[in-house]
Amino acid sequence: MPPASSVPCAPNRVTHLLALLFFSIPAPSVVPTCPGSPIFSSDPDPVHSLLYQRSPNAFGQSLALRCPHYIEESGHCGVWRHRESTCATWFCKFVRGAVGMRFWQVVRQLLHAVEESLAQWCVQELDMGTAALQLLFPPPKHPSTKSFDGNQLDGVADRQRYTAIWGNWTGREREFFKASASLVNPLTWDDVRAICGPEIQIFELLTQEAYSSLLSTDLPPVLQVHSFKAAYTGPGYSYISAYNSFDTLKLPKTLLDVLHYFDGRPTGEVLRSIEAEKNLKLSQSLLRKLVDFGILSAVGEG
Ligand code: SF4
Repeated sequence: MPPASSVPCAPNRVTHLLALLFFSIPAPSVVPTCPGSPIFSSDPDPVHSLLYQRSPNAFGQSLALRCPHYIEESGHCGVWRHRESTCATWFCKFVRGAVGMRFWQVVRQLLHAVEESLAQWCVQELDMGTAALQLLFPPPKHPSTKSFDGNQLDGVADRQRYTAIWGNWTGREREFFKASASLVNPLTWDDVRAICGPEIQIFELLTQEAYSSLLSTDLPPVLQVHSFKAAYTGPGYSYISAYNSFDTLKLPKTLLDVLHYFDGRPTGEVLRSIEAEKNLKLSQSLLRKLVDFGILSAVGEG
């Protein structure tokens, strides 16, 4: 969704990750309406989460699943500059198809882990009180044993629980987030790595590897046809989707008719066969595009 021009700009990326939380808190005098945890993005409105999980294709189409940050009057996102990792890394289509999608997926994994770890670090640093910590960090439950209370079903917060969760910061919620920003804002990336631990360092390595793949145009030595769908077929061409139904590639029938040649033989041999038998020469850049979009894949890859 496009940005709302009225959203204030935070000074750096790390602050952006926490700054989303500023928009989640009600003014102290206002009865809270969020039935999930006000602190962690991983603990949102449970009813909304259930509907989201059970309706995998409905987000973006159903009003019941509409994001609370959406501004109906303008059609804008109310937290654009501070949107969290999923929204910051989600695209319908990607430069370099599946290769680009994988890069953004691991960036999301990294940013999400940083968001969660820094939020927990702020909670630890700012002394919310043990009773609040017990509510914020309950022992894990199997999803099948989770249940909703009436307030959660009605989409409103329980005032008593809300107050207990805020602990020592009840009535000073905005100050809590400002204090969090003051903690996070001066952090360097090295600080973030030290605070967030080995998981972030693993995700950082995976992000670097995905970025190298994004820059590389090397072709696998042996290719095979991957499964794909024709989203639309016209005279002499089809729109093909393989890695992502949103991102189709228009391919001529002459090309589609020779894809079965990629049967696990070395690529040079396949290209020579296609040229000799079909009088068709396929360029390296076209092959790369077919690999990027998941229509061809390295032998041994799913
Ligand atoms: S926060 Fe909501 S409105 Fe903003 S980009 Fe994400 S889904 Fe869209």
